[in-house]
Amino acid sequence: MTPRDCLLEARALVLHDLQAQGFADSGAVSLLEDAVAGRGWWVEQWAEGTPFVAGLVAQDLQDSLLDRSSRWPRCTACDLTAEHSLSIEPELGVDPHWVCRESGIVVAGLGRLG
Ligand SMILES: [Zn+2]
Repeated sequence: MTPRDCLLEARALVLHDLQAQGFADSGAVSLLEDAVAGRGWWVEQWAEGTPFVAGLVAQDLQDSLLDRSSRWPRCTACDLTAEHSLSIEPELGVDPHWVCRESGIVVAGLGRLG
């Protein structure tokens, strides 16, 4: 996969998961575009990082949404009632998944939130 293709895929996967939880307002999509652009520079410097781009874009977007006090994606998979978000695992690896670190539940692959 070329760096450009992997950036397009990363954008599509993360956008899907934003939409799945109703977070895809114009502000969040704009932050996603920023995250994709930022990782575009990164993957040009380090082509071996191509398989990790989608998971990194998701984590970058989580950070920038958190700066707006938005926790995305919210965990609805476990019994904990306090609001908490899912995390990407592995943080730098292939086949990234959303997991709930409170319960250890693997919720879905990136791009597959229901
Ligand atoms: Zn949870």
